[in-house]
Amino acid sequence: MKFLNQLIIIFIFLYGCTPASINKKHAEPEKIKPEKIDPRIQTPNKMDEIKILSRNFIRIGIMEGETNILFSFSGPYSIYSKGKPIFSKKRSSGTWKVVSKNTQIQLENIETGERIDVSKELVFKPEQVSSYVRIGKIQSGKGWHWEQTRSRSYKGNIDFININEKITVVNEVGIEQYLYGVVPSEMSPQSPVEALKAQAILARTNVYSKIGTKYKNKPYSLTSDVYSQVYTGLENVSERTNKAVDDTQGMILTYNGKPLEALFHSVCGGYLEGNDIIWGSARLPYLQPKPCGTESGIEFGDLSIEKNLKKWIDSRPDSYCNIDKAKVDPALDFAKKYLRWETRISRKKLENNIRSSTGVDIGDLKDITVTGRGSSGKAKRVKITGTKRSVDINKELNIRKQLSKPPLYSANFYIVKENTAKNGLAESYIFKGAGFGHGAGMCQIGACGMAAKGKNFKEIIAFYFPGSQITDIGK
Ligand SMILES: [Zn+2]
Repeated sequence: MKFLNQLIIIFIFLYGCTPASINKKHAEPEKIKPEKIDPRIQTPNKMDEIKILSRNFIRIGIMEGETNILFSFSGPYSIYSKGKPIFSKKRSSGTWKVVSKNTQIQLENIETGERIDVSKELVFKPEQVSSYVRIGKIQSGKGWHWEQTRSRSYKGNIDFININEKITVVNEVGIEQYLYGVVPSEMSPQSPVEALKAQAILARTNVYSKIGTKYKNKPYSLTSDVYSQVYTGLENVSERTNKAVDDTQGMILTYNGKPLEALFHSVCGGYLEGNDIIWGSARLPYLQPKPCGTESGIEFGDLSIEKNLKKWIDSRPDSYCNIDKAKVDPALDFAKKYLRWETRISRKKLENNIRSSTGVDIGDLKDITVTGRGSSGKAKRVKITGTKRSVDINKELNIRKQLSKPPLYSANFYIVKENTAKNGLAESYIFKGAGFGHGAGMCQIGACGMAAKGKNFKEIIAFYFPGSQITDIGK
């Protein structure tokens, strides 16, 4: 029975949800050059350095801290350990398990039971562009609305590395191939093509602005999650998003000759926020707060004033990210519920959330007051008053995460207390909000709204990153 179960698992694993795009032909170099970007490399500052990097491969951290990883591969691979092939012939299929064994790695063939002890690093190198590795149970989006665990397929090299008796998985892949996996993970593939092109340029820019800034002691340059930008290998690849990457090949966004902070978010709600309000850093000249559209927000006055903000949130302003009347694919309808939203949280739940996230026992929750807002109305400071103690929460993401699990869609909200008893304690709190995400840089749904109005990717980028330049780093 156990054997049968194992066979079923293997079958689902191998054939269950192979990405449809895997077999689609795509313009790619036939030879795979195993050059790579050293993860310890400094952030490239000069255009010459960026141009050299653009021709190389990048290392993306896929998984970490595992002791046991199931995977399969399709197409010919050479398998190396310590720089030497471990098999005399190339392997072209099979389901395997990688297990950490003290400081080493053991490779086990699930079908034949064959076991091979190798060194602390195992490298799968594809011998054909179409070859891919499928890795089981990759967790992503931990703690967020989109948290999931599933198998994912990757082109390029796959490295399994034993670090402190746990396995780290790294995908080493060409930068444009990497972008094929980022664009459809970060934006709906059904978005208008001009919006997808803008997204492709931002994703490419992020490679060059982020390399060398984090993960200096790790065997990769970027992670595959939201902390770098989401990369799901071949999982979501589509013809439309590949075309957006190809049509903008080599284009990055610069300010004063350097790759800029290419920030983006799902829906701003109608008013873009400055980066300083969100992260407390110095405001960047190209990330200024302003209406996401032409008139939106202006008629409500200063949105950092609570009474103006309430009127604005109670409306559905005619912003670029208001796609109520826009001619866009119905696949984008999901965004309508983020333009304006309501989240009701019971007082008891809030007390628990606050206790577990801040470590402070406030007693019974008496009130939550926003004591500081940015130009778009985003909360940057919140005061929580309890019967035992009071506590302040600072910064946009902290506020969203510490009040709610999963986090509130945005920090652009006002609060209505519900069923307040004689003792002054409310039964629940309603957060009435606008937008999804931090609200700085490109509003993705706003970009779709602009494209639906006939704007091209250059106009979209010029609107969301005023003063920036599109720079060609070569093909
Ligand atoms: Zn917007």
